[in-house]
Amino acid sequence: MTQTLLIELQATHDYLRTIDRDLNAFPPDLADMDAIRKALAKRLTDATRARVEVEGIRVKLQKELELTQRLEDHARKALKGVTQKVQYAAAMREVDDRERAKNQVAKPLKEAEARISALDADITRTAADLETAKAKFEELHAVFLAEHETQVASRTQLTVKLTQLETQLPAPALAHFHKLLTNRAGKAVAAIENGTCSGCRTRLRGPYITQVREAKQPIPCENCQRWVYMPDVAVQVAAAK
Ligand SMILES: [Zn+2]
Repeated sequence: MTQTLLIELQATHDYLRTIDRDLNAFPPDLADMDAIRKALAKRLTDATRARVEVEGIRVKLQKELELTQRLEDHARKALKGVTQKVQYAAAMREVDDRERAKNQVAKPLKEAEARISALDADITRTAADLETAKAKFEELHAVFLAEHETQVASRTQLTVKLTQLETQLPAPALAHFHKLLTNRAGKAVAAIENGTCSGCRTRLRGPYITQVREAKQPIPCENCQRWVYMPDVAVQVAAAK
């Protein structure tokens, strides 16, 4: 693993980021359609999730209703068998209680069913709207990309180059590189400028800089852990191209 490889890898990432920024700087109509399609996708996900949730509740209530219905039927049957007046009043109360218990379940069950119907309608409508918005977005996006032909071509080239460079790096180093990219604001490799790490602006000690200059292997900054190098190495890279 050489410093030059890392420097080139970082430079390729920087170019790609610039191009991606251009290609994501949508004009207002495209940005609007992008926002609409994302909002619809979110609405669809939320509605689908809500439906699963309400369906769970519905199934539970349905079972409860069946149970309360059985208990009510049982009480009614018992009522029919009663012959004595005293027992009749108690049996009648039992029927009333059972019926009330059943109705207490029936109401939320109906509500759950109504909610499911509403969600189904919303899901169908949103899915259709999303398809339309997607198609419209793709259409506008294709025009936008055609207008940015140069950047699209550069992005393709740079992506190929990135893969080529990455395969030259040992897996652990590549993993570390990506970790640094993520945790260090997209900069894993930084030049030393005027004795200072350009990544974290920390002044580096003289002996440390000498060590970096003489190193065959990449060396992490003492402060931010980015791989640091002397800019004259980068000049050599540019000259070699
Ligand atoms: Zn640093």
